[in-house]
Amino acid sequence: MSKIIVMIGAPGAGKGTQSRLLSEKYGYPQISTGDILREMAQADTSLGRKIKETMAAGQLVSDEILAQVILERTSQPDCENGYILDGYPRTLNQAHLLEDLALKQRKQVHLARVVVSEDALFKRLTGRRTCAKCGEIYNIYFRSPKVEGVCDLDGAPLAQRSDDNPESVSRRFEEYRRSTAPLIDYYRQSGRLIELDGELPVMEVFEKLCAVIEGPKS
Ligand code: AMP
Repeated sequence: MSKIIVMIGAPGAGKGTQSRLLSEKYGYPQISTGDILREMAQADTSLGRKIKETMAAGQLVSDEILAQVILERTSQPDCENGYILDGYPRTLNQAHLLEDLALKQRKQVHLARVVVSEDALFKRLTGRRTCAKCGEIYNIYFRSPKVEGVCDLDGAPLAQRSDDNPESVSRRFEEYRRSTAPLIDYYRQSGRLIELDGELPVMEVFEKLCAVIEGPKS
């Protein structure tokens, strides 16, 4: 049965990094709802402006918009053999919709949570800088570029996400505790949630993740 791999975790826990590695290894597309919404937010329409404001404030975009985004994206042919969800679901309502979708698409849902303490997350997010050209990620606290504000790889300027400032980050944590934490209890009770220590080195987290996704070797 083809798989839907769901990555759950607080903002900055490393869902995106692990999803990208999974996508490279197994060939499943990585569906980042944050990336899709950031692109939609560029449109100079009332929908685009609404999404932009909501994201900049660190709040969640409505379940209705997300339902449409997910349905549209996962109906593309590249999702037929499976896909990775990076940033969805984030509410109980979204989780219920995903169960229905998985049934319809005849796919099995695998759930992995990356756990990182809030102190570490705050530095990861507020210190994060991304190359505007190649997407390489730096951090002013842990992994600064050789020249401040400039990508080591291609010399392009580094940008900070508009929701990575301290106020928005605090709001995103609040949203996470309020909306996404109940989702973790729900999945945990169903006995399907795998929890990984996200403070370990990236490749160690990834190895553990692959082992649980692949299941026991026979
Ligand atoms: P991310 O890139 O995953 O940190 O997401 C950035 C922002 O996009 C979030 O703070 C939300 O405003 C919005 N967003 C992403 N995924 C969802 C979702 N599943 N439900 C609601 N809002 C979302």
